[in-house]
Amino acid sequence: MSDHVLVINAGSSSLKYSLVDGRSGESLAGGIVERIGEAGGSQTHRGPDGESRGDETIGSHEEALQWAVEAFSSYGPSLDSSDLAAVGHRVVHGGSRFGSPALIDDELIAEVKDLVPLAPLHNPANLEGISVARRLLGEVPHVAVFDTAFHQTLPPYAYTYAVPHSWAEEHGIRRYGFHGTSHSFVAEQAARLLGREPAEVNVIVLHLGNGCSATAVRGGESVDTSMGLTPLEGLVMGTRSGDVDPAILGHLARELGWSVDEIDRALNSESGLKGLSGENDFRELSRRREAGDSLAQLAFDVYCYRIKKYVGAYYAVLGRVDAIVFTAGVGQHSAAVRAASLENLSSLGIDIDPARNAEDSSTARFVSPDDSPVAVLVIPTNEEWEIARQSLSVIRPR
Ligand code: AMP
Repeated sequence: MSDHVLVINAGSSSLKYSLVDGRSGESLAGGIVERIGEAGGSQTHRGPDGESRGDETIGSHEEALQWAVEAFSSYGPSLDSSDLAAVGHRVVHGGSRFGSPALIDDELIAEVKDLVPLAPLHNPANLEGISVARRLLGEVPHVAVFDTAFHQTLPPYAYTYAVPHSWAEEHGIRRYGFHGTSHSFVAEQAARLLGREPAEVNVIVLHLGNGCSATAVRGGESVDTSMGLTPLEGLVMGTRSGDVDPAILGHLARELGWSVDEIDRALNSESGLKGLSGENDFRELSRRREAGDSLAQLAFDVYCYRIKKYVGAYYAVLGRVDAIVFTAGVGQHSAAVRAASLENLSSLGIDIDPARNAEDSSTARFVSPDDSPVAVLVIPTNEEWEIARQSLSVIRPR
């Protein structure tokens, strides 16, 4: 029986897909269709029999998936139902309802629709991806894997905001957390690297990509995480502010007459590293900082200081920390961020070995000295494999 899972990540104007062997993690083929519904579309597929690039105008997610299905038949591998175990869909918001992946049926779709107010940009696109995939690849099981699910183990005192209780009961206002597939994958890999069972280890995972979040994982379960009701809270990100004083919102509305949508946009799209320095791409920011740009330096300092504060907070939450793990684009590649955000923490048993840290490698590794009480690890995340693994776990429960 095949272990191949087609992993689909549908965004508002893009469709990313990957055919993954859910057991070994091997990526067999993949691609992306971008600028759906816009002029100047672009498509890429890479398979065992070659690569295909297109610049067609693609009008809908249905056309996008049709393009991908044709690319699979020309460049491999086959998507026949006999060769495909499942289709795994990334769904951003599962609310309080979904603490694990679930088989997609009409009832699940209705429940994910009810959650649209909590993720107005993401869930509708995810639902569109599900709908077209069920139409075009209907004969295989479809599984929803939620970004929020891993954090459903947070205790009430960690997920509850200190606001009127009715806000939570009537409007679902609470911390949900995101990047769950990445945090769960990386925490498990960390235990592996330490040679221990996930249930035995406490880990702080720092997912630092375009979006950034920190999670405290105790014995394989998320017990606190930095993103909240939405993916805006917490660490400084490429274009998102992370934590701010919520009174800033009222201040902007009163003083500048900004609307709710304008404030939302400013905090989500014009803040973070971009707001501080004009640059959200970390590589470019690093080049500017190394050339002596003071705004790039300030952005870097604010970014790393915020990480350090969360490491301290989650250290206190966990009591004992076995490992701190860096992952995603910045976490995996920026030795400077790792060094600056863990600087002067030797008294907590946290140290970095400069030579190990300076290495730029794509394999999971230690960057702390051998005798360090807290291991500092760099582990490449693999959300596609995690979605494939979780999809298989739903269709073949043990
Ligand atoms: P991700 O969302 O995981 O793809 O991460 C994207 C972020 O990682 C962007 O800000 C990139 O500039 C950053 N990034 C990727 N490669 C590197 C690198 N070699 N050094 C520093 N930052 C990087």
